[in-house]
Amino acid sequence: MINITLPDNSVRSYNDVITPMDVAKDISEGFARNVISAKFNDTTIETSTPLTTDGKLTLYTWRDDEGKKAFWHSSSHILAQALEELYPGVKLSIGPAIENGFYYDVDLGSNSISDKDFKTIENKMIEIARGKHDFKMKSVSKADALSKYKVEGNEYKVELIENLTDGNITFCDHSTFTDLCRGGHIPNTGIVKAVKVLSVAGAYWRGDENNKQLTRVYGISFPKQKELTEYLALLEEAKKRDHRKLGKQLELFTFSQKVGQGLPLWLPKGAALRGRLEDFLKKAQQKAGYEMVVTPHIGQKELYVTSGHYAKYGEDSFQPIKTPKEDEEFLLKPMNCPHHCEIYNTKPFSYRELPKRYAEFGTVYRYEQSGELHGLTRVRGFTQDDAHIFCTPDQLDAEFKNVIDLVLYVFGSLGFENFTAQVSVRDLDNPDKYIGSVENWEKAEQAIINAAKDKGLDYVIESGEAAFYGPKLDFMVKDALGRQWQLGTIQVDYNLPERFDLTYKGADNELHRPVMIHRAPFGSMERFVAILLEHTGGNFPLWLIPEQVIVLSISEKFEKYAEKVLNLLENNEIRALIDNRNETMGKKIRDAEMQKIPYMIIVGENEEKENMISVRQHGGEDLGMISVEEFTNVVETEINKTLKQFIV
Ligand SMILES: [Zn+2]
Ligand SMILES: [Zn+2]
Repeated sequence: MINITLPDNSVRSYNDVITPMDVAKDISEGFARNVISAKFNDTTIETSTPLTTDGKLTLYTWRDDEGKKAFWHSSSHILAQALEELYPGVKLSIGPAIENGFYYDVDLGSNSISDKDFKTIENKMIEIARGKHDFKMKSVSKADALSKYKVEGNEYKVELIENLTDGNITFCDHSTFTDLCRGGHIPNTGIVKAVKVLSVAGAYWRGDENNKQLTRVYGISFPKQKELTEYLALLEEAKKRDHRKLGKQLELFTFSQKVGQGLPLWLPKGAALRGRLEDFLKKAQQKAGYEMVVTPHIGQKELYVTSGHYAKYGEDSFQPIKTPKEDEEFLLKPMNCPHHCEIYNTKPFSYRELPKRYAEFGTVYRYEQSGELHGLTRVRGFTQDDAHIFCTPDQLDAEFKNVIDLVLYVFGSLGFENFTAQVSVRDLDNPDKYIGSVENWEKAEQAIINAAKDKGLDYVIESGEAAFYGPKLDFMVKDALGRQWQLGTIQVDYNLPERFDLTYKGADNELHRPVMIHRAPFGSMERFVAILLEHTGGNFPLWLIPEQVIVLSISEKFEKYAEKVLNLLENNEIRALIDNRNETMGKKIRDAEMQKIPYMIIVGENEEKENMISVRQHGGEDLGMISVEEFTNVVETEINKTLKQFIV
């Protein structure tokens, strides 16, 4: 008798050896048609692998991440076969599934692949896929595996196999093709209905630049042609929304080789926008009981040795700054927390005075490899909307709820409607990994879960994902293109209060350690603006956008009236500018559309005579001829739709 436990903890018993596909069919024929891969006791297997012992079985379809992984991994085998057929003598190395699709690193010898070859490769892959060849795993002895690739002269596979243990080496066959592989395939090639070769790039063998550069062929595949079409449309849209491109077009930020890589320069429009974001958060934080503090950009090396950040960032980050005095060393600050701990330490607190909530838009510096730098999302200097809350363990519950309120307020005001949360807790099997008492951990984990429940968050609990110094809550936001971003981490910390010897006097008159919470709803101003740019495509909420209105006069004759309208708008606190260029109205409207300005005001003879304005919305809709007062109301109503008051 074999007992198979399914994810819902139901158990199915079988008299004979069965396969995951048999179990799927046993559940339902309809479900089985969609099952493409499986996991048995944490090992990825094929749907045809015989199950000979009791165990836990999970079945995956294309909808599951694991299903996609098997699908894309299998597609990389099809790509490899296509490349072998099209480029005889090609040497294969590795070909994994990645977040979106798969790649294969190959040594093409004297051949090369360019964009023009993609179609041929895709056609070959589809031809192979249509053969509906089963993916079949087989065990191969180390000697046989080595001899196969030595005969072929494939030094990459030889190197891979030399690092494997005999008895654990498997190959996967389909059609006439075979490849060294650990497993995890879909049942057959026929399930792959649509493929696209996306790009080629150079990649050093094993990522080491002393090794030979191979050709990395990137691809993606789908079970339906329609899904590929949709994906390609999404890619196109993502390119248009690339924040590096939009940031330039909208004149928000720039980089200068002279200033240094990864050090963003905020242009006037970007700086103003960033200022509005800061003011927005400052206002809400003030209501939520935070106090602003300001700390310097550097600190003595000793400060970071105490905090432990030197051990973490010291070697691989910016090196200490020397002074004329020997032995004196300062570090560019990689984190604001140590400074805030020292602020807390300036005077003794009683439990009645807690929580203390110190907030700062604090700029920090971390050295990222130049290859890792990416627009505003990976930089070497950035400003966190940082705050640290020092409270008693009993106050954690309420503090967590407050921080969640603030994060949800930020999301709501900026148009992020689609998000989930993850609570990261201890691995109960490894209690020694964590600092702080078991009692405090239980309290903190429960406080986070209670807060998440109370605030109606859609959350999951992940065991073993907590940092050694405390549990945390992360928000995962989906943008308009369905991409996930991690925003708004709330982290409990038992470590820094210990390292900085922070205390408060409790009701019992004894000294106790406060709990510290790190939180940053935006994360950093740089990364947040980048995400917001890609989410909105530059069409920021009206309260935030650089220019809300542009005034366009039909001809020079009406310039005076246009100026008058501009003044009226500015008096009503509307951000407006005027386009007085000697251009056609069509050109002026097109340029305003490019700059994503939400409202265009057109003034000419009729408008001047009636003391009115004609309003056109970004994207084409006409609001007709109205007064400046009426228009001000329209703007205010629109702003209030997204920008609500923060209520404590
Ligand atoms: Zn494989
Ligand atoms: Zn911190």
